[in-house]
This record gives sequence, structure tokens and C-alpha cells, in this order.
Amino acid sequence: MNADEFRQQGKALIDWVADYLETVESRPVTSSVQPGDVRAQLPEHPPTEAEPFAAVLADMDRVIVPGLTHWQHPNFFAFFPGNSSYASILGELASAGLGVQGMSWVTSPACTEVETLMMDWMVDLLGLPERFRSTSERGGGVIHGSASEATLASILAARWRVSNGSINRLGDTTHLVAYATSQAHSSIEKGLRIAGIGTEQLRIVAHDEQFAMRPDAFAEQVAADLAAGLTPFWVCCSRGTTSSMAFDPTAAIAPIAHEHGMWVHVDAAMSGIAALAPELRWVNDGLDQADSYCTNPHKWMGVVFDCDLFYTADRAALLGALSILPEYLRSKAAESGAAIDYRDWQIPLGRRFRALKLWFTIRTGGAIDAVDMIRHHVAATQTLADLVRADERFEVVAPHPLNLLCLALRAGDQATDSLIERANATGQALFTRTVLDGRVALRFSIGGRTTTEEHVRDGWALLESLA
Ligand SMILES: *Cc1c(COP(=O)(O)O)cnc(C)c1O
Repeated sequence: MNADEFRQQGKALIDWVADYLETVESRPVTSSVQPGDVRAQLPEHPPTEAEPFAAVLADMDRVIVPGLTHWQHPNFFAFFPGNSSYASILGELASAGLGVQGMSWVTSPACTEVETLMMDWMVDLLGLPERFRSTSERGGGVIHGSASEATLASILAARWRVSNGSINRLGDTTHLVAYATSQAHSSIEKGLRIAGIGTEQLRIVAHDEQFAMRPDAFAEQVAADLAAGLTPFWVCCSRGTTSSMAFDPTAAIAPIAHEHGMWVHVDAAMSGIAALAPELRWVNDGLDQADSYCTNPHKWMGVVFDCDLFYTADRAALLGALSILPEYLRSKAAESGAAIDYRDWQIPLGRRFRALKLWFTIRTGGAIDAVDMIRHHVAATQTLADLVRADERFEVVAPHPLNLLCLALRAGDQATDSLIERANATGQALFTRTVLDGRVALRFSIGGRTTTEEHVRDGWALLESLA
């Protein structure tokens, strides 16, 4: 493909994407393909001669779109939102067009400096503690691909700090212990495994009836581990758990953790973005005591995946854990301390210009639009809760302060399971199943860019008609 073809086909592709997004509502939310169906429709071996781009685009319609779960569908109530605004899609395109590698400042100064600025803009927009700002004495932030990477980076920084760096050389992590509730995201256990700490060294701290960590149980577990000669080093406070959107009380947990030199990580991947709305800034409670924090604009802010904001108040520990300096990456700018090399803030070396999609989104009003959208979603969730409570066959089974409602049928788990299956089989909406303290629940997650209260009411009507 040459530049002329790129101009022509690129414009066609933009139209194609806009058409898809404008008409996605008319499609079933889920695909009806069976495993292997997509591949079976494509040639088993690569073409030996060039095909016209139009043929590729035609296969997008013929094979790819029918094989999708439509995350941008307004009746997508499953998992968590992954909404994408037009401006952020253009940001992705610009990033691809520039094709720069931003692993260090010299490899593309603008890539680094815009990213640092965006992280500081987000401190303003979310009302985050000043200790996370890049201009603070010891903190700063970086864009990671996902919250899972942020969690792993946090664990590695904590591991480095608790050993004054000696773990990097010795690798002995057998005495380290980490803490989270059973409601914490699976990436916590995965991160601990990758970091060589392991599942056995993760303590599952008891939660209360709201599915939030019990500080007394945390303190007891830490005391028991200390008495056994172990080293408590890291605790995850989830602010908005995946299963039910529970909020661990960071303000009560952090003092216990810090008394014993532990690292406090706050995982607000889904819910932290709510802080764009000033009246919802309670999601940040206790954050001024966190050593690290993450939230995902790629979930609820209209920034297309991948865009996770990872902040730390102790960048020396993060850099201690992750910086390695081979000769070919040395630069005067970095050695003088005047420039940030983000490769030292993440697991991979290479990195894309992800900040562009955030910059495009914020500058074109995306943050203001997101506040509006978030408020509508929160209001629709409360409306939904009222509707559910008015039908005595149903029960709301967890607190619902933001945009997730967990509900169940009083008739029992089998009935709830069957309802979820039948509702999803209609293709009219998509819900996710979870289990809360042994009880099956339907998660009704409200977060699509184009999801309105009408869509929520329709989704509820579907559930009522099938119950
Ligand atoms: C979604 C989510 C994650 C994982 O996010 P990724 O960016 O997909 O890795 C982690 N924690 C919480 C609380 C989440 O909601």
C-alpha cells in the first residue's frame, strides 16, 4: 500500500468504523458463532498475491463483525465497560501513524513529556493527592497498558523497598506476605505469582457483609504473620471490586500497613474514574495514604483500550525495581535527571504513544462528556435498583453506589443461573454471572458510552419477562 492508497482506504476505513458504531445497536450484542467458525471462514494459508484492500474490508463485514461481542453496544451490561470515544480512536490512529517508540526521553521527547503532562492533568481532573504529581518530591505517574501491569509493578516496587533492593540480586522472597480480600481482582494473585512470591503467600483477609475488607481481620492476620517470623510487605485496597463494586476502607487499612512498613496499593481500575465528578470523589477516600494507585480511563472515560493510569508516591522504589541501564540506552538527558525514561516505570522496554488518545479526548471535551455520562449511569443504576426492589421475585444483593447492580432471584441459585443463561441467549443484552459469598448473582453493569436509562429499562424488562 502506498501513500495515495492509504489516503483513500484510510478515509474509507474511518467511514466504516463510524458506520459500525452508529449501527451497532441494531445487532445482537453477542455473536452466535461456535468455536472454530471464524477461522473456518478464512483461508488456511496466507495469500501468495496481494489482494485489494476492499477485499479485506469486505471480510471485516463478512467474517469479523459477526464474530464479535459488541462492547460498544448500548445493551452491553457484561463485565465492565470498555467504551471508546471518537476522539480517542483518532488518538490511536495518530499514534500508529507516528509509529514512535517512547521507551526513553531521547527516543521521542514529545511522547514522554505529553504523557507526564497527561498524568498531571489527570491528578487535577480526578482530584488525586498531590504526592502523585510528577512535580512532587517523590511521586509521579505513567500510562500502563492495563491495571494488571500496574499491580505487578506495584508488587515489584514494594518487594524492592522491603529488601532495600537486595531481592533484585538474591531473589529470596520466601518470607514475604501479601494481603487482599477474596473479592480482589485475579491480577493480584497473578502478579504475586509472576513476582516469585506465589499464591501461598497471599493472605485472603475476611470481608464484611458489604464485601469490603475488615481492618480488624487485616490487623490480626498481619500480627499472626509477624509472630510466625514472616514479613508482611504489600496490601491491596480494592476501590470498586470487580464482582460487586465493594470499597475496601483504605483510610483504616493504610495506618495498620504502614505501622509495619508495608506498601499500600489502591486498585480502582473500574471505579476510580468516577472521581471526575466532584460529588463522587469519595472513591478517593484514604488515597493520600497510598504508595501506589491505578485507574483505567479505558473502562469508563471513553478512552479506547489500552490506557491505565499508574501513580506512585515512591518512584525511587519503582525505579529501583525496574531500571536496568545497558550501554546502548544511556543518555545525557536521563543522567542529568532532567528527563524521565518511562522504560524504568514499566515491565516492557518498548512503549507506544498512548498519551495521545488521552490528550485528544480531554482537549475535545471528553472529560466533561465523561462526567455527564458517569452521572447518567449512576442515576440509571439507582433507577434500576428501585425497579428491582419493586419486584418481589428479585433481590438486590450488594451495595450499588455507582454503576453496578448485583441482583438475584429469591427462588435460588438455579433460578438465577437459568435467568442469566436465557437472557444472554436472546442476544438482546449481555450480563455476567458472579458468586457473592456462595450465592449466584447477575451483574448488571451500566457503562456504555451510548447507554441511556431507556436501555437499562429495556434490559430490566427483558429480565422480568424471563424470570
Ligand atoms: C478491570 C479491573 C482490573 C483489570 O484491569 P485490566 O486493565 O484489564 O488489567 C483490575 N482490578 C479491578 C478492580 C478491575 O475492575
